[in-house]
Amino acid sequence: MSGIFLTGVSKRFGDVVAVDALDLSLRGGESLVVLGPSGSGKSTLLRIIAGLETPDAGEIRIGGVLQNGLPPHRRDVAIVFQHFALYPHLSALDNITLGLRHGLRLGRQEAARRAAEVAERLAITELLHRLPRQMSGGQRQRVALARALARQAGVVLLDEPLSGLDAQLRLTLRAEIAGVLRGTGATTVHVTHDQNDAMAMADRIAVIREGRLEQLGSPDDLYRQPDSLFVAGFIGSPP
Ligand code: ADP
Ligand code: MG
Repeated sequence: MSGIFLTGVSKRFGDVVAVDALDLSLRGGESLVVLGPSGSGKSTLLRIIAGLETPDAGEIRIGGVLQNGLPPHRRDVAIVFQHFALYPHLSALDNITLGLRHGLRLGRQEAARRAAEVAERLAITELLHRLPRQMSGGQRQRVALARALARQAGVVLLDEPLSGLDAQLRLTLRAEIAGVLRGTGATTVHVTHDQNDAMAMADRIAVIREGRLEQLGSPDDLYRQPDSLFVAGFIGSPP
């Protein structure tokens, strides 16, 4: 299984330190939620793990293998972006298979077979020939999730996958995502600013603030024993 080890990972944009000397380790199959306010470096952290952003310092290891310098398609990582990031002119099927064919270099048949299999799991088989604009927000997010899962990666990264969806749909999708991910056995890093999503979905929660790790622990630990007022306020612990 693919454990993730980050040591001293930093990234700045001009004067802004987005990720600041971050150390994190996840055991294989673990589900970590990174919780922090807007601008705390969550997306940057995921993009660094995915290879979409180059860190200024630090090491990223997955399953013991150093990832620094490897392009995204050479990493055993799939990412679900915050705003779905589906290609508007491609059907759901083509959105799912594009990266399989061009990134993973699978043949047309194998890519289609994997797409059909994940579509079945996420109950989107009926949607495979629709364009993104012909789908609801929840349907688009399922397609984005299917695209990530079809890679069959050992690590799945989710960037605020429930943001922008209404409250009812959030609850439904939260349970669906948790169930589907558990079934894959993948190691997952899910970033969010929503403490309810974090409490519901995490094995452990890492609270970050301005790119630094503020506290790491089980949802229960963080709720009962917050190390700081920032964590208490953010998690909603009783005073
Ligand atoms: P979050 O996902 O937690 O909202 P981000 O990782 O998107 O936070 O951003 C962290 C900080 O880095 C913010 O101050 C943001 O403005 C800055 N930042 C992120 N990406 C870029 C970029 N490509 N260029 C300049 N600044 C950026
Ligand atoms: Mg973000």
